[in-house]
Amino acid sequence: MTVEPYRSPTLQARRAQMFPVLADEDIARLRRFGAARRYADGECLFETGKTSPGMFVVLSGVLRITGRDGHGHDLLIAELSAGGFSGEIGQLSGRRALADGVAAGAVEALLVVPEQLRALLVAEADLGEEIMRALILRRVGLIEMGAGGPVLIGAPSSPDMARLRSFLTRNGIPHLVFDPANDPDAHGFIERYAPRPEDMPLVACPDGSVLRNPAENELARCIGMLDAADAERVHDVAVVGAGPAGLATAVYAASEGLSVLVIDARAFGGQAGASARIENYLGFPTGISGQALAGRAYTQAQKFGARMLIPAEAVRLDCGRPEERDPLALELAGARSVRSRTVVVATGARYRRPDCADLKALEGRGVWYWASPIEAKTCAGQEVALVGGGNSAGQAAVFLAGHVAK
Ligand SMILES: Cc1cc2nc3c(=O)[nH]c(=O)nc-3n(C[C@H](O)[C@H](O)[C@H](O)COP(=O)(O)OP(=O)(O)OC[C@H]3O[C@@H](n4cnc5c(N)ncnc54)[C@H](O)[C@@H]3O)c2cc1C
Repeated sequence: MTVEPYRSPTLQARRAQMFPVLADEDIARLRRFGAARRYADGECLFETGKTSPGMFVVLSGVLRITGRDGHGHDLLIAELSAGGFSGEIGQLSGRRALADGVAAGAVEALLVVPEQLRALLVAEADLGEEIMRALILRRVGLIEMGAGGPVLIGAPSSPDMARLRSFLTRNGIPHLVFDPANDPDAHGFIERYAPRPEDMPLVACPDGSVLRNPAENELARCIGMLDAADAERVHDVAVVGAGPAGLATAVYAASEGLSVLVIDARAFGGQAGASARIENYLGFPTGISGQALAGRAYTQAQKFGARMLIPAEAVRLDCGRPEERDPLALELAGARSVRSRTVVVATGARYRRPDCADLKALEGRGVWYWASPIEAKTCAGQEVALVGGGNSAGQAAVFLAGHVAK
């Protein structure tokens, strides 16, 4: 008997869309995008935490997909037979795998590498829609399971836990949180690593490394978010900021065939990503959550080949090029730089801060500039003061009212 890996009824109901079976004529259409290969029983086609070679379309045999539950157990996600295909949205940009794929018996499969996968999605629109929908839903499923990403160990209410969770959630990275107060495995883990209080939370990454209260960019590097960095490459367009403006730029530039690099200091979606519900965005008559809107734009940009470098902060634009044809140099924090023929600055707004002493020290530790479900959980049952009178404050008041005491 197969155990249903998803809790949410929505995902359970959409299982057929998550794991569609391609017809023979569909497979014939996508053969030109891949190369057929044979795999022996037990052979690993892709492994959690390691760069996946691409999407596998099963031609014969069974490909078993499992996720990891953070306690050392495998969870069966799917068994793909002829017409099934592997992958989730990270395959568009050649990211590290969030699940394991092992041949159960002899398997023949078509390997479609990321560049060819993007070409397929654009060239075969109807087939591409079916595949894209499945890849997106699978990432949603992995986020729900927490499979394939880092495991955060520490008190769920600690500010640093909230900081790291917010970073991972805003970037659509699956993760798990284990509280040593009620999880014996987490307790044992802490005894083994004997962290000082300031080392908490600990983060166990899929590659086996353990980080102690990491900064966001340290965590990002460990889980492969910064794999897109390539100092040698000259892009046509570098976009600073992955808010709605930056992502729209990326979609249009990349869909016109330009090579695009998007850089954001924190997460895709910008301010809009923090919005509980956006009612006035063109094309969404029933409204859409900011995170869902941003996720769609982020995926759409990658479908056209835009590369994402997040988190990376642009600190200086060097326009002093010796020749007019030379690329511009965009310096990033951490003594890195990228080169591009054009730079679009879409860095949005800075928050106006109230004039309070020591406010900076309390940011992320009781003072927030938005109210997402993570902040709502942190403030649950407490009294909250909201500063501001614009529509964001109104939206936050309505949202928080359902979670806080007053
Ligand atoms: C809670 C909330 C709810 C909202 N709801 C609505 C709504 O319902 N309807 C509506 O129309 N508007 C709404 N807004 C406003 C809307 O989200 C913004 O107008 C919109 O996001 C602006 O888009 P942008 O891309 O210009 O900038 P931003 O969204 O601000 O994005 C800028 C991005 O640039 C990045 N960045 C900044 N500096 C650097 C740097 N040096 N290096 C790298 N990256 C950098 C930031 O991290 C950020 O991701 C809301 C805003 C908030 C905060």
